[in-house]
Amino acid sequence: MRQIILSDKCGFCMGVKNAFNKSLECSTKMQHICCYGEIVHNKFALQQLTDRNITVENDINRIIASPDIENVIIRAHGIPPNEEQRLHQTKNVIDLTCPNVKKVQNLAQNLAERDFFIIILGKVNHPEIKGICGYCEGHYIVVRSLSELEANSAMLHNCERLAFISQTTANYKDFDSIAGYLATHYPNTEIHRTLCHAPIAIQNASTELAKRVDIMIIIGDRQSANTATLYNLCCEHCRTFFAETPADLSGIDWTGVERIGISAGSSTPESQIMRIREYLDNIQ
Ligand code: SF4
Repeated sequence: MRQIILSDKCGFCMGVKNAFNKSLECSTKMQHICCYGEIVHNKFALQQLTDRNITVENDINRIIASPDIENVIIRAHGIPPNEEQRLHQTKNVIDLTCPNVKKVQNLAQNLAERDFFIIILGKVNHPEIKGICGYCEGHYIVVRSLSELEANSAMLHNCERLAFISQTTANYKDFDSIAGYLATHYPNTEIHRTLCHAPIAIQNASTELAKRVDIMIIIGDRQSANTATLYNLCCEHCRTFFAETPADLSGIDWTGVERIGISAGSSTPESQIMRIREYLDNIQ
């Protein structure tokens, strides 16, 4: 009897699940809802929102200018405070910023108010980082790695108060190497480990599962970075396939396969996971 094992940690993280479910809930009570940016990088989840007449707009000026938009959703990544204020002037704002991201925003604001210069680990164009930077009152630098920080270290010499925070989904190895560097060269730096454990927990559970099965199936959207990371990690341990729909699995030879593992990135909705699960339950 072939075994199909679903990773005990996979699919929507708490922040995305909350934003997605509350958006669907809003669509039952309100009309003319627009999400400021995609709520999740997954076409199947986005289609569910489109089916409920929730639109997506990436340009805040167009949202503000549009008389057809009454309600604006702030997604889990959050936005800068000046943008939030602009939206509040003319729209009903539904703030679905993830509580973990909110904590980092509040921390950044508190550090800025106490005159800290803030070193932020993350991707400068990532929406979460844009939101956090908005709370830093101009006293910050965003770096992607220790080497990038070292290249800019001259600007740290004259800072009396330094603090280090990160994008919630930054790589923990980069975080630790920067924290180690700062502890050695700038020992008074306040170090705040603002990483979210959700993506790491999914990665750890999936790689452990990949070690115990013959084939691993990673479910998600081809454009999703966190799903691609999962795929690459599992490839190191067993034959691994990526699937958006059951059709992606039609060419696999299942001969001799006794254990199949399933996992999915934090942007994959449960409905997509279940569709593939059902297909696997019925293969011969
Ligand atoms: S990864 Fe973590 S911080 Fe980001 S939305 Fe999910 S739960 Fe929130």
